[in-house]
Amino acid sequence: MIKIDILTLFPESFSPLKTSILDNAVENGLLEFNIINIRDFSKDKHKKCDDYPFGGGAGMLMTVQPLFDAINSVYEKDAKIIFPSPVGEVLSVKKAQTLSKYEHLIFVCGHYEGVDERIFELFPIEQISIGDYVLTGGELPTMVIIDCLSRFVDGVLSSDSLTDESFSNGLLEYPQYTRPQEFMGLKVPDVLVSGNHGEVEKWRKKQSLERTKSRRSDLLNNTQD
Ligand code: SAM
Repeated sequence: MIKIDILTLFPESFSPLKTSILDNAVENGLLEFNIINIRDFSKDKHKKCDDYPFGGGAGMLMTVQPLFDAINSVYEKDAKIIFPSPVGEVLSVKKAQTLSKYEHLIFVCGHYEGVDERIFELFPIEQISIGDYVLTGGELPTMVIIDCLSRFVDGVLSSDSLTDESFSNGLLEYPQYTRPQEFMGLKVPDVLVSGNHGEVEKWRKKQSLERTKSRRSDLLNNTQD
């Protein structure tokens, strides 16, 4: 069971966690989500949680006091604190697998132009990016990271689903088909309905390799390293 605390100024963003596989994982006692409103910790009389950046510049920054008190309210030794951010290391399968081994994760969602940098000196926080682009807040990146790591928590998925996925062997996944065998004149490749498992396996490997070569040749370079 992983306990996942999510600190955010926008708790209403997290309804997607209450659907499908993640909701089943909660029902089955594999994950627990605890969504905490950072604003509840503001000592400002108007519950303000943002202010102008020193030195000028566009937008507002989340202030350090509410963040510090919100993290402190849930922090315990051995908990891992994550701040999704474009300046972090980009999320990978390996990183998601590592995160899935923790018993307690704390996600801190930035918003506006980001947060006062001193929060990173007050707590051991790892920054993780979900890609080289900028979103308006850390809520979606938090859900992306949670979704990705949850797949590696024992019992959330069947183990086959994990080994056959894109990136699991350094390649992109092969094309897949289901019923009907023919639709609008388009037929499923013969080999997949031949019943010859060896040939199916060979076809899938070849497709996987060709797809990776044409769409993500960088992955092939990585496997050769
Ligand atoms: N000023 C920041 C910068 O240039 O790096 C961007 C701030 S962004 C508008 C607001 C928040 O969204 C960030 O603090 C972070 O929590 C989240 N965010 C935006 N893009 C992200 C990404 N690619 N990966 C992870 N988090 C991201």
